[in-house]
Amino acid sequence: MSVRVFRDADASLAHIEGEPVSIIGYGSQGRAQALNLRDSGVDLIIGNREDDFAAAARDDGFEVLSMADAATRARIVLFLVPDEIQAQVFEQAIHPGLEPGNMIVFAHGFALRYGLIDAPEDIDVALLAPRMPGAYLRQRYIAGKGVPAYVDVASDVTGLAWQRLLALAKGIGATRAGTLAVSFRDETELDLFSEHFTFPLIFRALEIAFEELVAAGYPPEVAIMELHGSGELGEVLEEAGRVGLYEMLERRASPAGRYGVLRHREAALDEQTTRQRARKALERIRNGSFARELVSDGGAGYPELGRLTELARHLPLSRAELAFNSLFHLDDGSGW
Ligand code: NDP
Ligand code: MG
Repeated sequence: MSVRVFRDADASLAHIEGEPVSIIGYGSQGRAQALNLRDSGVDLIIGNREDDFAAAARDDGFEVLSMADAATRARIVLFLVPDEIQAQVFEQAIHPGLEPGNMIVFAHGFALRYGLIDAPEDIDVALLAPRMPGAYLRQRYIAGKGVPAYVDVASDVTGLAWQRLLALAKGIGATRAGTLAVSFRDETELDLFSEHFTFPLIFRALEIAFEELVAAGYPPEVAIMELHGSGELGEVLEEAGRVGLYEMLERRASPAGRYGVLRHREAALDEQTTRQRARKALERIRNGSFARELVSDGGAGYPELGRLTELARHLPLSRAELAFNSLFHLDDGSGW
């Protein structure tokens, strides 16, 4: 079964012309999607609580209303607040403002996949899930490129949901890179899998490498430069995403580099244990136990997330990275 890919030519902004669009939430995705849509010619307003995020939206030149007022005003609502609090915000601020034929769009399928939101039956429900954080979505758009996204329609009462959804995908720049039809169930599970398995594996490998290099006597700043500080790892993985992991290696690495990587890849980790971890991660995602844990932590004001964040801040690697950053000034402030 092949995956359907939508490109710029498959989408038209005319399908949302004159439709009032509201973006609820002005965080990572909210800000980036709002700025991209506006630059694509879409008129929109922002719904947020009165705080720094609301001030940022006004600074960017948007009209900002309460979430409830913005939802009431809109025909199309992009619902861009954290997943684990969406149920509560939806009931309080969004649901009352929805009218038959309106459309609500999520950037991640979490609330739909785990049944946290009971959307009314007379509205369109859709997914437009960019595969990167907002800052990169914005940077690529400005550079004339785009970030791929997954799209799905969970409910199409108007018969217009796909056209409108693809118009939004085009507006944020996603059809420039390729927009894939992926069910909200698969999108949710795959997104969480990256967060529960792939990223931790890479992060932990870097942490351990750092600690071992420092223990072996190398200066911490140089160890960081070698691991991820130079940006080489980011660049080569970016190219690997376009051409393939080992194709990139063939194109870019010296014989010594290729020999080294190919010689050691199999022994790099314990295969049985790693496969078991991948399956376990998927199981906890699919049976909903991770979702329950996250929703419960969010509901309590994130005590566990706070504890884990504090732990990570005090890792030897994190402390050394502060020194590294003040030495090289590599942070150009492009992250927001
Ligand atoms: P952020 O945490 O960056 O955005 C937070 C926004 O939600 C702010 O406007 C904040 O406003 C508001 N908010 C937070 N808590 C509350 C609350 N209790 N009540 C009302 N408003 C609240 O979220 P993201 O942009 O990261 O995520 C939004 C969606 O995008 C999620 O579904 C996420 O899965 C998805 N997504 C995120 C990606 C990412 O890389 N970040 C990538 C792809 C999809 P304030 O606190 O000022 O009220
Ligand atoms: Mg995610």
